Amino acid sequence: MCTLPEAVAQNVSRVRQSTSAQIMAVVKADGYGHGAVAVAEAAVAAGATWLGVTDVAEGRALRAAGLAVPILSWLNPGGIDAVAAALDRIDVALGSVDELRALIADAVAPVRVHLHLDTGMARGGCPLADWPELLRLARAARGRVEVVGVMGHLPRADEADPAANAAAVLRMRHGRDAVLRAGFGPVLVHLAATSGALTDPATHFDLVRVGAGLVGIDPSLTTVLTGAARFTAAVVHSAFVPAGTAVGYGGAHVTDRATHLAVLGVGYADGIPRELARDAGVELDGGRHPVVGRVSMDQIVIDTGATAVPRGAVATVFGPEGGAVPSVQDWARWAGTIPHTIVTGIGPRVERGIA
Ligand SMILES: *Cc1c(COP(=O)(O)O)cnc(C)c1O
Repeated sequence: MCTLPEAVAQNVSRVRQSTSAQIMAVVKADGYGHGAVAVAEAAVAAGATWLGVTDVAEGRALRAAGLAVPILSWLNPGGIDAVAAALDRIDVALGSVDELRALIADAVAPVRVHLHLDTGMARGGCPLADWPELLRLARAARGRVEVVGVMGHLPRADEADPAANAAAVLRMRHGRDAVLRAGFGPVLVHLAATSGALTDPATHFDLVRVGAGLVGIDPSLTTVLTGAARFTAAVVHSAFVPAGTAVGYGGAHVTDRATHLAVLGVGYADGIPRELARDAGVELDGGRHPVVGRVSMDQIVIDTGATAVPRGAVATVFGPEGGAVPSVQDWARWAGTIPHTIVTGIGPRVERGIA
C-alpha cells in the first residue's frame, strides 16, 4: 500500500515517461479533494516545476506553506488581486481584453501574465479574433504586465486520438507565433492537461498541466495510475433483520432473506453519491458488501449477509488497492459520473490525514 506522496510520485513519473516537457501540478479544488498543499509538495518533490490553481488566493496559500516554484492562477472568478499576485509572485492567465484592462488598472508592481487563447472550447480564453487587440494592449502595458506565457486548453483530449486535438494544436501555434511576432520575449507555451500529456506529444509544447493524473485519475483511460486516497467509514450501528425488512427512506430496498445490516456514518453530505447503481458496495473484512436502500445525508446501510459486523468496525469506501476495495472509478461508474466528481465531492466533515 502506498501513501499519498508515494502515489503522487508514481503518477508524476508515469507522466514523465510520456513527455519531456515541464510538468505543472494542478492542485485546484483543494488538490482534487486530496489537500492542495500535500499534493503540491509531493508533486514538486517528484519533479513538477510549476503549480497551477484557479484563484490567486489558492496560490498564496501554497506560498504560505513554503512552496517556492512558479505558480499560475487562471480563471480568478473573484477578479485578480494584482497587488497580491505581484507580491507573492503568482502568475495570472488572462483570457480577455477586459480582464487585461482591469489588471492594468490595478497593477502597481509588474504582474507576470500568461495570455490564454481559446483553442476551441468556448469556455474561457481569448477568441482568436480578439488576440491582436489583446497583444496590442499587453505591449502598451509593458512595465505593469510582463508576458511570460501563452496557454490554451484541449476540449477533446480524453478521446486519446491526436486527430481530435489537431485543430487546437494549430490554433496554439498560430497564437504563439503572433505573440513572438509582436515582440514579446521567450514565452512558455502550454496546452495539454493529463489526457494530452499521456496520449499526444504534439500537444506538449513547453509544459503540461497535470491535475487528475496526480491523484490517479486518467480521463483518457489509457494509462494505469495509482489512486492517492483511501476513504474509510466506521460502522455506527448493526442489526440482524428478518426477510422482508424495508431498509431506509421509502423502503426502496426490502431484504429477501434474514441478514445482517451495518450502518456506516457517511452519506451524501460526505460525498457518497445519492444516485447509485445497485451493484455499489464497500469493503469490510476483506469482502465486498452491497449498499442497500437509499443513501441518506449522514449514513448508508450495507448488507453483510451471514456476517455480524460490530459497531466500530471500519469499512473502506474506496482505495487504491483493488480486489474487494472499490476504486474511485468504481464509484464514478455506479453514480453515472466521472471520478473527478467523486474525489472533489468528499464533504468537509470527513476527517483528512496523510497516510
Ligand atoms: C483543471 C485544468 C487542468 C488539469 O486538468 P486534468 O485533466 O485534471 O489534468 C489543466 N488546465 C486547465 C485550464 C484546467 O482547468
